[in-house]
Amino acid sequence: MLQFFNYLYFYQMRNKKILVFFIAAAFISACKTTKQSVNQTAIAHQVNTTDAVAAAKLFTATFQQSAAEYKALCYQAYNLAKFKLDEILMTGKYARPLAVMTDIDETVLNNSPYQVHQALMNKDYDPISWHEWTAKASADTVPGALSFFQYAASRGVEVFYVTNRDEAERVGTLKNLQKFNFPNTDNQHLMLMGKSSSKVQRRDSIEATHILLMQFGDNLNDFSGAFEKKSVADRMKATDENRNQFGTQFFVLPNPSYGEWENAIYKYQRNLTTAQKDSIYRSILKDW
Ligand SMILES: [Mg+2]
Repeated sequence: MLQFFNYLYFYQMRNKKILVFFIAAAFISACKTTKQSVNQTAIAHQVNTTDAVAAAKLFTATFQQSAAEYKALCYQAYNLAKFKLDEILMTGKYARPLAVMTDIDETVLNNSPYQVHQALMNKDYDPISWHEWTAKASADTVPGALSFFQYAASRGVEVFYVTNRDEAERVGTLKNLQKFNFPNTDNQHLMLMGKSSSKVQRRDSIEATHILLMQFGDNLNDFSGAFEKKSVADRMKATDENRNQFGTQFFVLPNPSYGEWENAIYKYQRNLTTAQKDSIYRSILKDW
């Protein structure tokens, strides 16, 4: 018995030593990791100190590329749209052909690699680099978009792509959509930006020949003229006024990286410096 207690005592002491060893090792390792993190933060800080906006774009692109929640939100929009479409198609016969209207960028195609490319150079959007990106025709699809639009087409509903990409981007845009077999990817169904960025006239022209069942976009201007050139407060008000359209006729995809919401914050001023933009953000944010 005594032998057993001696053994137990020795075992406990040995374990204590092992425990002390592991605590010391963990402490040294934690110090190393902290030092490494500090170094990495310092490097990241060095890269981005000149441009808080670029840092914000990297963060939002990370959400778009790595958050499963982003994917789930996109699925949610397109699942609901399919449910509504089935419901509409059960109700009857129509005198004119049926159509849905969709924006392209951040609704059908995911351009987050462009955001990242620019932000890593401390830059925001500019038309020259944007045209280089769209000519590559290498954007991936927004989750859920392809299967929904293919389904709509299979039910006899035409898909119109109404985008503020311009004429110079026609070839690259069609090539990018055709790569994935999106339906109706022809010149008749691709409605690029003409003289106006407003989509009102293009929507009217679809409605002249078709019954427009639903619309898709990441920007409220994709849905109605009611949101155009409005202040932040008035965009909120117009959203309340159109509350019943969301999820029934208007299907919104998430885009935390850019959009008319951002232009409204800048009061539609062009060519602001990044310091001015940063200062505007700080002036409107609500702290506790
Ligand atoms: Mg868009």
